Amino acid sequence: MRYILFLFLSLYTSSNAISQITEITDSDWCNHPYRESLQKLTEIKVQSNWFKVYRVGQNVIAIVEPYNFEEVISYLILGKNKALLFDTGIGVDSISPVVKQLTKLPVLVLNSHTHFDHIGGNYEFKNILALKTSYTLKHAKEGWNHDSIKDEVTKGSLCLQRLPGFDTSHYYIHPFEISQFVKDGDEVDLGGRKLKIIAVPGHTMDAIALFDSTNGYLWTGDTFYEGPIYLFAEETYLLAYEKSITTLAKMAPRLKKVFPSHNNPISEPVRLVELKNNFLTMKAGKVKPTDAGNNMLLFQFQYFGFLIDKNQLVKFRVE
Ligand SMILES: [Zn+2]
Ligand SMILES: [Zn+2]
Repeated sequence: MRYILFLFLSLYTSSNAISQITEITDSDWCNHPYRESLQKLTEIKVQSNWFKVYRVGQNVIAIVEPYNFEEVISYLILGKNKALLFDTGIGVDSISPVVKQLTKLPVLVLNSHTHFDHIGGNYEFKNILALKTSYTLKHAKEGWNHDSIKDEVTKGSLCLQRLPGFDTSHYYIHPFEISQFVKDGDEVDLGGRKLKIIAVPGHTMDAIALFDSTNGYLWTGDTFYEGPIYLFAEETYLLAYEKSITTLAKMAPRLKKVFPSHNNPISEPVRLVELKNNFLTMKAGKVKPTDAGNNMLLFQFQYFGFLIDKNQLVKFRVE
């Protein structure tokens, strides 16, 4: 997600939200240079016009979607007996053929949260683990209909040449079937590798982080990424977010790598400490925001920013 795309201010809001801007014309997603962070990684060549795949850790593969403004990243985490796919992308192209090229192991799917850009390919898989929250259940049952996301995926927001046959005017996110409920503190055993689920509500009520204590890896979803962190949606709850990032900041000394769900696939653990500290500084009113339009403020720091709804912020500061 790039700064320029703050024009997409209706992201994650309801269908009656701002919709006068439906196309971005000043960004060419077919010729956009890849992020520097991607260029430094070892690429795994796969047959795909849409996804780019990189090795980012010990048996950890990032499946990146660089040809649209979301720049969402799904992760394939390999154990001895099973693989876990942490998110399934924005759903404009099928992710399962890419996963099949990367592993023969049975694949479990788990989502960092159920915003549309992370569950697009869920319906392609049989084994889906999920939290039992009302928010998760709603999106499993309904997906995201075209109206709710039509302002996000437009002709100007992605490289259509890479998606033959794809029609932005019919884009929606399929419902999916949950095969097993999981909860905070559960461990998913992939064989020789255990991943602990950490509930981090805030960005959404069903946001989770995933912790691999053996390797010191943490997947943070949209709770943390390098870029403007979206904290303005109706479903965002800032007080819960503060608690969640406090939990993550405490884990920093045990971590070697952080894997966020947008933009740069690898981040430094120390960023989680900065995330918490900067959030508290912001809460205390010690940072000057810029007006991002549509009743939103952007608090920008060196590696990331907070994009917050003004009304939510007023409420949060007195909570
Ligand atoms: Zn999100
Ligand atoms: Zn996202």
